[in-house]
This record gives sequence, C-alpha cells and structure tokens, in this order.
Amino acid sequence: MARDRDPQCKQCRREGEKLFLKGERCLTDKCAVERRNYPPGQNGRGRIRQSEYLIQLREKQRARRYYGVLEKQFRRYYDKASRQSGITGENLLRLLELRLDNVVTRLGFAASRRQARQLIRHGHFMVNGRRVDIPSYGCRPNDVITLKSESPAEGIVRAATDMVASVAPWLQADYDALSGKVLKAPDRTEIDTPVREQLIVELYSK
Ligand code: SF4
Repeated sequence: MARDRDPQCKQCRREGEKLFLKGERCLTDKCAVERRNYPPGQNGRGRIRQSEYLIQLREKQRARRYYGVLEKQFRRYYDKASRQSGITGENLLRLLELRLDNVVTRLGFAASRRQARQLIRHGHFMVNGRRVDIPSYGCRPNDVITLKSESPAEGIVRAATDMVASVAPWLQADYDALSGKVLKAPDRTEIDTPVREQLIVELYSK
C-alpha cells in the first residue's frame, strides 16, 4: 500500500507546526519542532517568498499530512466534499475526521494515526461487530468500534488510552470495554485540526 515515506518529523518541520505524527514522542522535548523550528534542508533558515499559491499549497499539505492521506486520495475527498451540500471545506474536514483510522486515534485507542492504521490493517478492530481492516473506512453516526476480543494488541491499545487527555465531543469512549461510539458527524467547531480549509478550497478550485 502506498504511503508517505517522508520522515514524520521532517513533515512537521516543513509545515512549521506539530502535527503529532509520532505519538508519545510528540509530547516530549525530543520533538523536532521544539528543537529546530525551521524548515528542513540546506536553505531551511533562509527567507522564502510567501506567494498566495504557496500559502494555499502549504495549507493543503498540512491537512494531508495531518490525516496521513496521499495526494490522489485527498483530491478524491475534495471532489466528494464539493458534491455534498453545505460548505465544501467543512465537508472535506468532516470526511477526513470520519475515517476509521482518525476515529480510532481520536478515541485514544492509538498513539498516532500511523499506529491506528497499522492496528486496523492487521484486523484488530471491529465496527458494529464486523472486522474492518480498511483504515479509510468511513464511519457513520451510531457506529460502534471495538477491539477484537483477545486481541494481542490490547496492551498497545491500553497504553495509548493512558495518554488520552480528552475525547472529541462527537465520540464516546469506554476504556474498560475498549469500545467507542460515533455519536454524530462532527461540526467544524468540534474539529481542532490546525488547518484553514478555505485555503484548500481556493487551491483546488483554481
Ligand atoms: Fe512532529 Fe511528533 Fe516529530 Fe514533533 S515529535 S516533529 S510533533 S512527529
């Protein structure tokens, strides 16, 4: 399966923001953005002319990297969002938020989206009682996500739940049963992704 092979910390430094791609390490002072808060590469500390296009491009890249989605798939999400009624940018974020790997991460069952993707691909999670091994699976309101019984990943999942400060208001988590529920599709105010989605819409609608 195709995936972004750029080192994760390099991706954060490129976007100039912590994208929390590495789980626990992101919360420590080993975080590369804390240590070297300038773009990677030889000319990282030089001045870059900020054109309108560059600002829009960076916003799109930031969103794409935050959710761990490749360009082609991201574009498909945008096309789908633009066909839905309502505000395209908000639709786009909602579609990305409802991905199973994001829901598992937001529930606190994985330390990062990458870990969530791996656990899902290895078949450790069930949705409404059925095994789902597709990280991009689109969750719906009232879907119940559970860790498969006697899963060897239980230790990893429990360790991830220990790091949880709070669960998104549109989700409900039960850490004893290691299960969670999608209460509803999230509103924009309930999505804390550090992204200005309007700039992405402007980029793609050129
Ligand atoms: Fe990004 Fe985490 Fe690396 Fe910090 S430690 S740069 S937040 S991936």
